[in-house]
Amino acid sequence: RIVYLNGEYMEAADAKVSIFDRGFTFADGVYEGIGIVDGVAFDALNHMNRLKRSLKELEISLCDEEVEALPEVWANLIHRNDVEEGLVYLQVTRGAPSDRSYMFPSSNVRATVVLFVQRMNLINNPVAKRGQAVITIPDNRWGRRDIKTIQLLTQSLGKNAAKAQGCDDAWLYNPSDDMVNEACSANAHIITREGALVTRQLSTDILHGITRAYVLHLANDHHLTVQERSFTRQEAYDAKEAFVTSSSVCLRNPENSELIVLEG
Ligand code: PLP
Repeated sequence: RIVYLNGEYMEAADAKVSIFDRGFTFADGVYEGIGIVDGVAFDALNHMNRLKRSLKELEISLCDEEVEALPEVWANLIHRNDVEEGLVYLQVTRGAPSDRSYMFPSSNVRATVVLFVQRMNLINNPVAKRGQAVITIPDNRWGRRDIKTIQLLTQSLGKNAAKAQGCDDAWLYNPSDDMVNEACSANAHIITREGALVTRQLSTDILHGITRAYVLHLANDHHLTVQERSFTRQEAYDAKEAFVTSSSVCLRNPENSELIVLEG
C-alpha cells in the first residue's frame, strides 16, 4: 500500500513520523476525508477550501504550493493503489519540534502532511439501505467544532457507546438546551411532519459539512422548505424522517436512482 508523507510516496510500513510531532502529543492538526467514486475524489475544491480555513484558524503554516499540489497527490494515490470506491484521508499536523511544549514551535518547524487512500463501500452501504439506529450523548467537545481537527475522542467514544448498545451512531446534543448538534462524523437533519427539512444553522457548534451544503442546494432546487435552525432531541424523535450527511455516504437521485456525484 502506497502512502504519502511530506512530499514522498512510500510503502505504508516505511512512513515514519517523529514521536515529538504535535499531532501525536497534542492532537494539534487538521484533516479532511474525501469520497472516491469511480476512481475520482469528488468535491475536491470545497474540501481544499475547508482545509485552508482549518489551517488558517489554527495558524498551522503550510506553503501554498504544497496545498495546491494535494489534489495531484491524492489522484496519484488513488491510481497507484487502484481504488475505485473509498476515501482519501488527508492530515496536516503542526510538526515535530525538538521538545514537548505548549508553545507553538518556531516557524522553521515543517508541518507534517500525510495522505492515504482506503477502499470503502460508499454506494452500496448496507446501513444506508436498512437505516441507522442512533443513541444520543451529551456533546462535550470544545467550542470550535467548525474546525476539522484530529481531536476525535468524543466522537470515537460515542460511536463505541452506540455499538455497545447495538446501534450505529450517536447524535451529540447540547445538555444545556437539549438541541442536537450533529452526529459523530456526519451532520444531522430531520424532516418535520409538515415536510420541512430542518438542519442546524452554521456556527462554531458544528462542522460545516460539504455534503450538508450540497443537500441544501438540492433541496432549494426542488423547492423544498428548508429551515436552518436548531432542533431539540424531542423534535427529532417526533420527526417524520431523520438522516445524516457525510462525504462517506453517497447520494442517489430519488427520481432516477442515478448516483449524484459532486463536481470533479
Ligand atoms: N460533522 C462531523 C463531526 C464530521 O466529522 C463530518 C465528516 O467527517 C461531517 C459532519 C460531515 O462533513 P462532510 O459532509 O464535509 O463530510
